Amino acid sequence: MMFIVLLGPPGAGKGTQAERLATHLGHAHIATGNLLREAVKSRTSLGVEAKAFLDRGELVPDHIIARLVAELLDTPDGHAGAVFDGYPRTVAQAMALDQELARRGTRVTLAVALDIAADVLVRRLSSRRICARCGSTYNLITNAPRQGGLCDRCGEPLVRRSDDAPAVIRRRLEIHRAEAGPIEEHYADRRLLAIVAGDNPPDVVTATILAALRRTPAYRPRSSPDLSGVSPGLPGR
Ligand code: AMP
Repeated sequence: MMFIVLLGPPGAGKGTQAERLATHLGHAHIATGNLLREAVKSRTSLGVEAKAFLDRGELVPDHIIARLVAELLDTPDGHAGAVFDGYPRTVAQAMALDQELARRGTRVTLAVALDIAADVLVRRLSSRRICARCGSTYNLITNAPRQGGLCDRCGEPLVRRSDDAPAVIRRRLEIHRAEAGPIEEHYADRRLLAIVAGDNPPDVVTATILAALRRTPAYRPRSSPDLSGVSPGLPGR
């Protein structure tokens, strides 16, 4: 059972990588942004509380996020391991996650910070499109859907996220810059941080993350129960 945290600015590829890792490891993909967008769309009480924050690109208050994550960790899926995408976003959230996992007798396996230049991010976010139904993410330049404008998975029309508008992108990047250092430090202090270049092709990024994961003491490959060759080491930086 592994709990992997993906850190990095909006547009760094957290969603793409989280989905690939979750599939590869057979773990849940917990994307707080996707869950909040779904809640806003279906107008649940969570969505009503969160909407104004999402519209402005501001962070949703920690206590709302804490409730959401605790509920997910209590599902059988979440209990068996997860790849967190877009969470934690603050040190308070990182500490809350540590506590939630400790209560369940486990801990974060690895935190991966996807490192990428700001100009690449703005370009990526401007050409990003998502499926309004299933949340799958595409990029018109680097990861276009097979059929123009339609989701490969469910055939729904793709839309631009409302918070991928230029002014909101700027605000989201600002917030990320303010929080990123302290969160990375939180995991570096615990020797759990791997910094991975996020501007390589997605396959290369996935392979680099998996290599860092293999070097963690908690690494448990799904298909091979023989762990005798796994040496406890530190994730690379
Ligand atoms: P994302 O899809 O991860 O870019 O998140 C979209 C928006 O959802 C963010 O700009 C925040 O408003 C909100 N959000 C997502 N995850 C969190 C979180 N862990 N803490 C606070 N707000 C969040």
